[in-house]
Amino acid sequence: MDSISVRQFLKSNHQNDAEIKRRRLTLYFISYVGGTIMAVLAIQNVFRGDHLLAFFLGLFSVSVYGNAVLSHLYNKNDIFYYLAGALVIVMISTITITGGYHNTGLYFVFPLICIQIIVVQFRAAIVYVSVTMLLVFLIVSNQDVIPASYRPEDVSRFLISLSCFIAVFFIGEYFWHQSRKEMMSDNLEKMRQAHTDPLTKIPNRRFLESVYFERAINNPVDYFPLSAVVVDVDFFKKINDTYGHDVGDKVLIHLAQIMRSAIRSTDLVSRTGGEEFLIIYPATPLSVAVKLAEKIRIEIESTPFEDGDIRHPLTSSFGVATALADVNVEAAIKLADDNLYEAKRTGRNCVV
Ligand code: GH3
Ligand code: MG
Ligand code: MG
Repeated sequence: MDSISVRQFLKSNHQNDAEIKRRRLTLYFISYVGGTIMAVLAIQNVFRGDHLLAFFLGLFSVSVYGNAVLSHLYNKNDIFYYLAGALVIVMISTITITGGYHNTGLYFVFPLICIQIIVVQFRAAIVYVSVTMLLVFLIVSNQDVIPASYRPEDVSRFLISLSCFIAVFFIGEYFWHQSRKEMMSDNLEKMRQAHTDPLTKIPNRRFLESVYFERAINNPVDYFPLSAVVVDVDFFKKINDTYGHDVGDKVLIHLAQIMRSAIRSTDLVSRTGGEEFLIIYPATPLSVAVKLAEKIRIEIESTPFEDGDIRHPLTSSFGVATALADVNVEAAIKLADDNLYEAKRTGRNCVV
């Protein structure tokens, strides 16, 4: 697993919660609050005798309620946001055509436009709002064919103020999205650094514990049986003592590189301590993990560390264990550790 996949891993764990909530709440607002207001207005208009307006208000009320109920049922689907945006186009057009109560309907265009911009998101909103504005413009410019009647001075003020309102709203939206994007990207980069070992550039223990295992436990089918291989370099202290700490560091980088090249992209090698690494093989039974560990052991043994005049052979000891289900992860790591201890005890450079 490289730094890009670590970033992706962190990103999907850390989705745009704020934006999702904002759109969802706006959808519910238009659906439940707007739907109720329209239902009340529909009833008022029934008593007032304006049956056409009452009919449209009733129809919108039922449509927005229906759309919201469906969005609860299929809550992963974005289509309901776009449907809500389309309903807003129809509502605004109808309000503008009928004029609403005593031709005061245009006041409602403002909140409806805000809702539309938020629920359909920035790019699509440009299209939705352009269509809405075009329709509104065509309707108010052809008053001889519609029931509503607006004074010319009202029409021009309405169109100018609505255009300014939309422009200001879009500017606000643009900068909110922009600053959120930058914040998220900064945040993600900080998280990636906090979950990466600065020396070897591979994920660290924190990544395993707070991100990787959580993901595995939430998606057991993809991850279990999960095999853990604890790797500890043999006689590493001697390398430090002989060549110095800096060379010791280079040896760790060299080893991380060997292990990284030996695994598949879905496997993970992490540095969990000084000269200790933990390799995770998701969806891999114990027998396979033991073979893979053996392959890495041979690879390390046959790739001595070389730096200038230094040529130092390396070996490592391996402890393997497998968690069959999510509840066993901790126990499996503990068992792999015990097995590593056993490998050290029985002469090193082996897999237990
Ligand atoms: P064994 O075969 O029993 O594992 O022996 P060992 O010498 O490898 O184990 P020991 O635990 O005695 O020594 C580990 C050494 O690793 C001690 C510590 O100074 C060194 N070490 C830990 N972290 C780092 C590091 O980041 N860089 C370097 N250069 N050395 C480190
Ligand atoms: Mg050690
Ligand atoms: Mg060691």
